[in-house]
Amino acid sequence: MKAPAIVGKRTDTLLQHGDRLPEDDSSVAPPIHPSATFRAGDAQQFAQMASRPMHARYYTRYGNPTLERTAQLIAQLEGGEAALLTASGMSAVSTTLIGLLSAGDHVVAQTSHYMGTSKLLGELLPRFGVRVTLVDQTSVQQFNDAIEPNTRLMMLETPVNPTLALTDLAAVCALARKGGVLSVVDNTFASPINQNPIALGADLVVHSATKYLGGHHDLTAGAIIGSPGLIERIWDSAIVLGGTLAPHDAWLLLRGMRTLAVRVERINASALRIARALEKMRGVARVHYPGLPSHPQHALARQQMRGFGAVIALQLEGGYREAERVMSRLKLFTQAVSLGGVESLAAHAAAMWAGTLSDEAMRAAGIEPGLIRLSVGLEDSRDLLTDLRQAIALH
Ligand SMILES: *Cc1c(COP(=O)(O)O)cnc(C)c1O
Repeated sequence: MKAPAIVGKRTDTLLQHGDRLPEDDSSVAPPIHPSATFRAGDAQQFAQMASRPMHARYYTRYGNPTLERTAQLIAQLEGGEAALLTASGMSAVSTTLIGLLSAGDHVVAQTSHYMGTSKLLGELLPRFGVRVTLVDQTSVQQFNDAIEPNTRLMMLETPVNPTLALTDLAAVCALARKGGVLSVVDNTFASPINQNPIALGADLVVHSATKYLGGHHDLTAGAIIGSPGLIERIWDSAIVLGGTLAPHDAWLLLRGMRTLAVRVERINASALRIARALEKMRGVARVHYPGLPSHPQHALARQQMRGFGAVIALQLEGGYREAERVMSRLKLFTQAVSLGGVESLAAHAAAMWAGTLSDEAMRAAGIEPGLIRLSVGLEDSRDLLTDLRQAIALH
């Protein structure tokens, strides 16, 4: 079964033309509007600007033409009607949850999430009276059993860090809808090119645009996509929380998105080739990648994703020291966190989380001491494989 296609224009065309505005002047590249505030023509217009939600020309924390333009393109990419940009992916997640939840509400979320989201659900939201139940994302039944009469929201994330476990979006979003529960999906690891949660039944999608959408490791941004009603509700809190994206970064994000589809398609092909080769390499115990038939949810991956992304989790036969040895020998892969950009990156998972998670918590999250997370970039995949071979080889 093929995952549903993006609504409207074909993606490659959408990425070049989806944000064109009728009032554009003759410049082919979009303008940047750095202005923090916008002039009203007369008193009546001022009153109208001040009272209309999400006005793009009133005050930049409330709205800005460059932000609006970039947001509109992201909304169309995800098959949503409206979108809001934020200063980071974590700002997108926290603004969404704080905007929609109140004391006494119950949330169903996954045992594995992006670290910041786990902390938000486990520590910050409970301080404000929100209760959270965490379930194994690979079990639809556990989501079903966790729904209570006051469950307001389900937080989903697929594929998830670092084991690339999946959530069955169609099944879980249908459960949420049936129970009158809002579903929010962090779609960062898939990218809108590989997966569109709204088409699978989700109410809202969030992104760390720092990753694939920006794609060049040179900006931090977030996005929230959904219906105009939900986005306006979240905007009402966003203007108070204040995580506004800078217009220059919104422009850079739009610039990066012009090549999103070609980048992701090439990355999908390279990462699959590398994942297959790694599975056969001596010294490698296991390769976690949704595109491999050995992935426990490969059938689900093929059903809800069009491609499998940049991230490969590589379990070495050796432990912590062996991972350190391999990391120090890598030459083309840069030792750095983040993912989805043009340069290939590698991170030693256990070292990445040593400061925040106990050894037991790490094992529970599937973070083995010898686990290395790769993000495949746009270098030639043969060169990347040569680099991995020489780094992993025992002499
Ligand atoms: C990086 C990331 C975030 C946080 O995004 P920032 O832009 O770093 O704030 C949230 N969710 C996922 C899945 C991520 O990979």
